[in-house]
Order: sequence, then C-alpha cells, then structure tokens
Amino acid sequence: MAKRLIYACDITSALESWASPDIAESYDNVGLQVGSPNRIVDRVLISLDLTPQVVDEAVDRRVSLILTHHPLLFHAPTRISDDDFIGQLIFRLARENITLYSAHTNLDAAPGGVSKGLADILDLHDVSFLKPNADDNSGMGAVGKLPEPISLQMFLSLVHTKLKTPSLRYAGSLESTIHTVAVCGGSGGNLIPIAIDTNADVYVTGDLSYHRFFDVLGPDGDCRMALVDAGHYETEKHTEQLLCVWLEKRFPSVTFFRTNVLTSPINYHIF
Ligand SMILES: [Zn+2]
Repeated sequence: MAKRLIYACDITSALESWASPDIAESYDNVGLQVGSPNRIVDRVLISLDLTPQVVDEAVDRRVSLILTHHPLLFHAPTRISDDDFIGQLIFRLARENITLYSAHTNLDAAPGGVSKGLADILDLHDVSFLKPNADDNSGMGAVGKLPEPISLQMFLSLVHTKLKTPSLRYAGSLESTIHTVAVCGGSGGNLIPIAIDTNADVYVTGDLSYHRFFDVLGPDGDCRMALVDAGHYETEKHTEQLLCVWLEKRFPSVTFFRTNVLTSPINYHIF
C-alpha cells in the first residue's frame, strides 16, 4: 500500500485541535507565518524561536516544515527586505521552500500546554490552571503542589537544576516554606495578583520588570508570596519537547527534530 502523504496543513490542523487559535490572546498572530500549507512533510523541525541558525539546521536536516512557539510575524511588517532580521528569514524560508507555522498563546492556554509542561518539570502535582477560561478546559498559567514543603532556598536550587537557568532573580525570604507553586512560562507578570489570590507560596515566570517585584509586597513591606524570574527562554524551552512528544504520537511516519540551536540571544555574565 502506498504511504499516505502528510501535508503541512495535516500537522497544523492536528495541532489546532489541541491548541485552537480561538484561545490565543487577541494581540497574538498564531498560525501559518510563511510558506505553503500544502507542502509535503516528512521531516519537521521544532524550535522556540526562528533564527538564521535554525533555518541552517532546517536545511541541513532537509525539513519542509518548521514549528515555532514565538511567531516570526508578531507585529505587522511595513516592508519585507533582506536587510533586516525578519525580512531575511522570510526570504530564506521562501528560497528553501520551507513552511513556518507558530503556536503561541493558544499553546500557552491549551490543556497540557506550556505552563502545565513547566509544572511537570518542577514535579508539581494536583495541577490546575492559574487563570482558567470560562470553558474550564483552557487558561493561563498553572498552580500545583510540590511533593513536600521545602525552603525557598531549596526551591531556587530545584528551579536552577530543572530549568538549567544560570541565574535567578527573586523576592522573598530564603527560609520561607514553599509548598503551593504557581507558574507561567514566558512573560507572566500580569498573573501576579491571581497567584497571590490562589495563596501560592511562590510564583515562577519570566520577564519580570523591577516594579512587578513590588506587587508581591504587603503593607509591612514583606513579601506576601515569593516571586522568581527564571527567564523567558528557560521557562519555555521545554515547549519544543512538549510539541515533539504530542506530534510523534499522531504522525508516526514523520520525523520530528528539536532544534540544537540555543535561540535566546541573552547571555549571563556571572562574576
Ligand atoms: Zn514566550
């Protein structure tokens, strides 16, 4: 029997049955970014971000579809030229006939999505959405419990080890007890009030600005909840594995690769 051909749209439609574009944030631009939905696909590269090095890898691996979490076309471009970062990526994808598709805040909000994946890495149990949507089957962030209470100092070590993050910014007393943990992969500063209302002992996310740290202070200036900025990339890197495992089960004839490229442009200078 002839092998059934798989098209890019078969894979992206399956993904959308898990992470519907309807649950993406209104500011987002999820879905097909560049290329043909009708490209025949037998090899797929999965990456948090698209960079020239990821396209190099895609060409080396002879893939015809790249899936990223972060959309390449987030802000509507006013020009497409090969003299800027986004433009040259679009030109290269077109030249190499590679289709690019992104599942972003819809994958954050999907059941078993980005934040649930983060909760699993931190060994949380009894995990639920931190901010459930009205349908209760999607939402932002996740909250659960550690197997047993530990100090914030031990918890920071756990985050460092599990997320391979070289440094952490945090607020809170190192001696405080951590049992209930709220998380949100990526930029989750806006969920701090909800994490406090959930009585979480700590909230882990990325991209926290200076003033966000004041949001956890009580009237006495002490922290009502510990707050940890573990990095945007570090709290979302596992998304590549999440997508890979989900898709491998459904498309056994397709080879899925997680990128070998460290796509974050941020370095840590540790003295
Ligand atoms: Zn992100």
